[in-house]
Amino acid sequence: MAKFVYAFSEGNKDMKDLLGGKGANLAEMTNIGLPVPPGFTITTQACNTYYDKDQQLWPELKEEIFSHLKALEEKTGKNYGGENPLLVSVRSGSKFSMPGMMDTVLNLGMNDATIPVLIKNSGNPRFVLDAYRRFIQMFGDVVKGVPKANFDAFFDKIKEEKGYEFDTQLSADDLEIIVQGFKAIYKEGVGSEFPQDPKVQLLESVEAVFSSWDNNRARIYRREHNISHKLGTGVNIQSMVFGNMGDDCGTGVAFTRDPATGEAKLFGEFLINAQGEDVVAGIRTPMQIEEMNRINDHLYPDFVHICDTLEHHYKDMQDIEFTIENGTLYILQTRTGKRTAHAALKIAIELVEAGFIDKKEALLRIEPEQLDQLLHPTFDKKALREAVVIAKGLNASPGAASGQIFFEANDAVKAAEEGLKPILVRKETSPEDLEGMIKAAGILTAKGGRTSHAAVVARGMGKCCVAGCEAINVDESKKQFTHKGKVYKEGDFISLDGSTGYVYEGVVGTTEATLDEDFETLMGWADEVARLKVRSNADTPQDAAQAIRFGAKGIGLTRTEHMFFQEHRISAVREMIVAQNVENRVKALDKILPYQQSDFVGIFEVMKGFPVTIRLLDPPLHEFLPQKDSEIMALAKELDLSFEDLKDRITALHEINPMLGHRGCRLAISYPEIAAMQTRAIILAAIEVIKKGIPVLPEIMVPLVGHKAELDYVEAIVRPIAKKLMEEHGVEVPYAFGTMIEVPRGAITAGDIAQTAEFFSFGTNDLTQMTYGFSRDDAAGFINEYLDKGIFTVDPFVSIDPIGVGLLMDMAAKQGRETRSDIHLGICGEHGGDPSSIKFCHSIGLDYVSCSPYRVPIARLAAAHAALEE
Ligand code: PEP
Ligand code: MG
Repeated sequence: MAKFVYAFSEGNKDMKDLLGGKGANLAEMTNIGLPVPPGFTITTQACNTYYDKDQQLWPELKEEIFSHLKALEEKTGKNYGGENPLLVSVRSGSKFSMPGMMDTVLNLGMNDATIPVLIKNSGNPRFVLDAYRRFIQMFGDVVKGVPKANFDAFFDKIKEEKGYEFDTQLSADDLEIIVQGFKAIYKEGVGSEFPQDPKVQLLESVEAVFSSWDNNRARIYRREHNISHKLGTGVNIQSMVFGNMGDDCGTGVAFTRDPATGEAKLFGEFLINAQGEDVVAGIRTPMQIEEMNRINDHLYPDFVHICDTLEHHYKDMQDIEFTIENGTLYILQTRTGKRTAHAALKIAIELVEAGFIDKKEALLRIEPEQLDQLLHPTFDKKALREAVVIAKGLNASPGAASGQIFFEANDAVKAAEEGLKPILVRKETSPEDLEGMIKAAGILTAKGGRTSHAAVVARGMGKCCVAGCEAINVDESKKQFTHKGKVYKEGDFISLDGSTGYVYEGVVGTTEATLDEDFETLMGWADEVARLKVRSNADTPQDAAQAIRFGAKGIGLTRTEHMFFQEHRISAVREMIVAQNVENRVKALDKILPYQQSDFVGIFEVMKGFPVTIRLLDPPLHEFLPQKDSEIMALAKELDLSFEDLKDRITALHEINPMLGHRGCRLAISYPEIAAMQTRAIILAAIEVIKKGIPVLPEIMVPLVGHKAELDYVEAIVRPIAKKLMEEHGVEVPYAFGTMIEVPRGAITAGDIAQTAEFFSFGTNDLTQMTYGFSRDDAAGFINEYLDKGIFTVDPFVSIDPIGVGLLMDMAAKQGRETRSDIHLGICGEHGGDPSSIKFCHSIGLDYVSCSPYRVPIARLAAAHAALEE
């Protein structure tokens, strides 16, 4: 019979798949002798079985749960629902931590019969009744869906009637009234009495946790973090300890290092006389961790010792939850702490230096995508000096964000869809706000500390966040916040500096990111192990320079058409397109030549001998022509044509399906003059730069080839011109001639094509489009449906489809190498910057990947991962 329930003493940290992260770590901590309240874990497999059984708990599982409950009673010497009552918590915990996304119920085992005993045992009626009202509310809300607000409203009403400001002013008698009121609210919402049978409380809570795996916010979180929907959650049932029994109690969260900067210093927050989620929910702004010594002076040293033990044991920074009950410390959770990219690098390098892990492990610990955070601009120092400070909060998650303020998550989502940059401003955030947080450029909260929900989630997403900015007064219902009498309304611009905690008025200017020593160290390690080289797609010398700064070893794609759109050139380009004969076309092309040549000179100078792949003109010509009558009129005047003639020419160029139309090498075949001009520009630029003593390595690339004869035709244009220019100038230009592989026929006849091509570059944007028959410009909408319905797990335009498109690539690479053993192979489609596609490119033996400049570091690390994981 399958085993679905494990006592903490039966598990270990390597059982995350089965026990979930929380369960596996509770087991591990139990086994290394840390003070963990005893309990047991129901497996993720049980969760999946629950879904297979139409969301019903089955008799064998119930039996297994109750037998573990009995063992727990024996261990604690208490009774669940009986004399000396045992109280338990029920918490979710999946393989990957999903902070706040799933459900928790605390204080199970309380009922009308156990309350008097608990009061007698604790001598603290106020505490017991407070715990009971929390339990009724949590059970009602989480398990039965009675709106939390209904309970809150009643609670606030009693407080108001009594004239209290703080919850702590409520007496035991007041809490008795609240308990009765909550029971009535429960009955009204659910249609039956609050369950007095603790076994019913337990089973229904377990079901609620299983069900919460599939709630909306958990699904969104998993989608955002690429976590499979199939993992399921574990359920941890643990005997309760209370941080809210008095002033010798407390609860808190700590990181063994600073999760924002990586500094090796205990970093945490703590509340005296508070329960479980109060810290994370950000309702009260907590105290520094050292202050736990106020309870008694061995607590902090003990805690530091436990933190050291855990970090040594796990060989990584830990995020630890703890509770102090009547002066005794308990550890409730440990997990690998989420951290910013900056901190991730620092911690990984320091752990290598300390001998905890090796370089390989350090590289593998950093998610390539996470580096993205380091590569984006920060506020300009000069602009900051002039900026108007509104207030200062806690620097919860670094980064610089400017945008317009919105107070509701939904409004932020809408604003982002309209192309605005929303800054989400809330009193505090809760898991319901997740989608708005994802869409926001930055997050500002008035309450909560560095370990509040907002801070933890923002750091996980690499999003700028200022938390606990108590100086501002947020009124979500009025959609405004005030500060010293000044009102900031929805739509106003502000700027957040998540690294310092400052909030500024308006938009503050930014500067390029500066990469620190840690970044260079880690990238150096990555390059040592990677086999794939990383190039960048770049159309301008500026892009090329950025790519070099980020460590690119060449340009994998220069899309020459982007140069055609610039000022002054576009009119010559248009003249060339509408020309009715070769002579006029050549005249217009002669005007474009010097521009194009100077573009290439600029790029070659920056690249200093690294290879530069320049693609001959690719897009359909009508993309360069105006569409509106008024613009056509203006162009007609400029070109000295009649409006009607020009309009006819534009109409003639119209295509029903331009992506499969007159583009790519087909243009060079119809208009060889264009390819001739571009060849001249490339070779002349190379000669000019070589004469300055700078080496160059151009690679002339023909797009959209499906047949060897197409490439042969273009070769017959390019090679003679190159040869002639070199002879005329007496300069040898080392250049290569090759093609993109982006048409399925090109891929399956790559052996033939390699007779002419010295290199292949996979254009996986078009190759995906044509292999699937999905228009790359129209597919986004319906691919989302595919993703939602589980037909696709990833968008094939984002990650290479290894089975279909990948098969064509593998076949083409093999055929290419068979024909020409030294053929150079790369990829320049968008996939070149996607870590899982990079892994695939590594597996089929490509020589390099090429991606946008800002993804170069991500690709370098992904290339190292591919080599290490081989
Ligand atoms: C491609 O098709 O993958 C490619 C790089 O070319 P473009 O995106 O310009 O069509
Ligand atoms: Mg293409």
